[in-house]
Amino acid sequence: MSFASQSFSPEIVRALTECGYEKLTPIQQQAIPHARRGHDILANAQTGTGKTAAFSLPIIQQICDNPKQRSRFNVRALILAPTRELAAQIAKNIEDYTKYVSINVAAIYGGTKMASQEKKLEQGLDILVATPGRLLEHMELNNVSLANLEFLVFDEADRMLDMGFISDIRMIMNDIRTQPQTMLFSATFSSQMNKLSNEILRKPKRISV
Ligand code: AMP
Repeated sequence: MSFASQSFSPEIVRALTECGYEKLTPIQQQAIPHARRGHDILANAQTGTGKTAAFSLPIIQQICDNPKQRSRFNVRALILAPTRELAAQIAKNIEDYTKYVSINVAAIYGGTKMASQEKKLEQGLDILVATPGRLLEHMELNNVSLANLEFLVFDEADRMLDMGFISDIRMIMNDIRTQPQTMLFSATFSSQMNKLSNEILRKPKRISV
């Protein structure tokens, strides 16, 4: 199955071709059609399966289809990841996929200066990739607004719970008043994970690879 057959725009297909992507991986085949229709997703997927493209391409295409003026501190899509390395990698992949379209993305995580991150947040972002703790710090300083959030992703959700991010995640969720399309990706499912996914997902499509 090709990316063009999933009706991604030619600019996105061109960028994917340059990344060496020709056919969808199994997780992408399962997730992308549901995500393109706006469904929530609950995915059981290991790293290395192509999950980053599975959740980010539908978001990228939907943002391209519905462009909006950027406004100060506003975020349209939030991707939460457990570690700075993963957050940086996701943002890098999204930069590669959006080479020929007008989408801005930034990664914010601990261990780097707040001020430079604040500058990125201030311009308004289509896609923000963040670790939960550092995102909360910026939320407490009013450096970021989730008031108009349209898309929300939890990547490697089991690792976020293992690392003790559950209370941070709950505080972040408390600030989200919209009903964003939400996708949760996890390699394992514990009772705590099932509880979280029941709380945050609405009629999710369940997929597994
Ligand atoms: P991920 O699981 O998202 O970390 O992706 C694992 C690796 O597969 C990364 O190097 C991706 O760039 C690559 N990848 C993802 N989707 C595809 C695809 N459809 N075709 C070829 N490589 C891919």
